Formats: sequence, C-alpha cells, structure tokens
Amino acid sequence: MPELVEVETTRRDLNKIIKNKRINKVDVFLDKIVYNKKQEFILKVQNEVVKQVQRRGKWLIFELEKSYLIIHFRMEGRFYLLPLNAEIDKHDYVVFYFDTFSLHYNDPRLFGKMEVIEKDNINTFFKDKNLGLEYTDPNLTESYLKDRFKRHHTEIKKLLLDQSFITGIGNIYADEILFESKINPKYPADKLSKKKLQLIIDNTKIVFEKSLKCKGTYPNIDGKRGTFENYLKVHMRQNKPCYNCGNLIVKEKVGGRGTYYCPNCQKKS
Ligand SMILES: [Zn+2]
Repeated sequence: MPELVEVETTRRDLNKIIKNKRINKVDVFLDKIVYNKKQEFILKVQNEVVKQVQRRGKWLIFELEKSYLIIHFRMEGRFYLLPLNAEIDKHDYVVFYFDTFSLHYNDPRLFGKMEVIEKDNINTFFKDKNLGLEYTDPNLTESYLKDRFKRHHTEIKKLLLDQSFITGIGNIYADEILFESKINPKYPADKLSKKKLQLIIDNTKIVFEKSLKCKGTYPNIDGKRGTFENYLKVHMRQNKPCYNCGNLIVKEKVGGRGTYYCPNCQKKS
C-alpha cells in the first residue's frame, strides 16, 4: 500500500516532469474514481498548467492555476508515465495528456479517489480529514505526543496508524519505527515515557528518510520498484531471525493489522 514515502517519492518525481506543464486533455474511464461529476472534473482539469505538485499526509496535490486536484491512492493506486500514444491498461482509469507524454492513473483495487476543489476550499478539505503533524513539522515533539496520547490507553501501534497524531505512517513503517525504538506494538500509548516518545519521533524521521533514498517499497512513475523492502528489519519477516538478537520475528494482529515485531527486543514491559 502506498504510504507517505511512496506518495512523497511520486511527488518528487512528478515535480521534475509535470511542473509548469499544461494538461492538454484528460480522459476518465471510470466515474467512481473521480469525486466530482465527470464533465465538471474534465472541464476544471483540461487546459490547466500544473504549477507544482504538493503533498499533505498521504494526499498528493496538483496545484493547478484555478484549483487543486487532490489524489489519494488508498490500497493500490499509482501513477506512471508513458508516451502519448501508449496503450491504455485495463486498470488505467484516468489519463492526463501533456505535450510529449501521458500520465496514467492505475488502480486495480479501485479504492483510490481524485477530486478537484476550489483553491479557497483547501484548508476546509484538510480540516475535515483531521490530520496530525507531518514528521518534518518542528511542533512534533515528545510533549506534543505526551499530551495527545494521555487520554488513550490504547496500543501504540494503533495510534501510530491513526492519521490524527502523526500523519503518513502506515503499516510497514509503524512496524519498523517501533522496532527501531524497541517498543512493543501493544504497549499502551499513554504509559510511554518522554524518552520513548522522542525515540518514536527520531526513528520516524530516520526510517522515512532511509526509505525516501530507496524510493520506497512500491512501483514508481518509471515503473521501477523502490528498494526499501530489502532493508525492512521486521515487517514481512515472520519466523526470520532478528538482526539485533537472533530471536525469531513474530506476526500478530494488533489494532486489526498484521504486525511484525521481535518479542525479545520489543518487550511488553
Ligand atoms: Zn530482537
């Protein structure tokens, strides 16, 4: 599933290619991907220049001249670049045509969404989503987390996945961040010490930045897969030895999600 790193990788790649370029034409092959009425969507996107590509949490934002086009990949949505006359895949549901190439939105699971909103409505749009702080936000401190977690006697893994505290952490990264911080995924969030909370913040940055260098874990706009999967320490490593201590990594459901951890390095108490 595309998480913050994958969306940020797409943003960086797209900015190099579509910034200041005009969308000459857009085709929508499946109405349900687009939140607006199809004709309204086409009217608002076609002939607009992409001023820049931004990101908020796991949302990708194309800043157009008069509006914002907001995209969420959900389970398997992604963009890829092709020549103008390339064949349309059966899972390509929206195609943007620029002067010399086309940008295809592909989504086999059909959970992704696109929406064009007026520029004035962007703050309201994200206010409704109740997003927490970005990992790069200087306000993300141990006292912020202490304060936000104090009423939540809940498994820490669940709160890391909740986008209203720190935005952008998904299942893969939550497992890796907790392993690096030596915190059990089921440990109650309200009982974490300030030192442990600081470790979560530091390791979120370290894990995200390492993954950004590898371009994430997902196919990117050139079709090449990011290589961070090769560096995962616990996620998807069930029954394999822990790199720190040699104990076997276990998999359990925590907060409804398959969770990988080392029972020795990440003790319950
Ligand atoms: Zn271990």
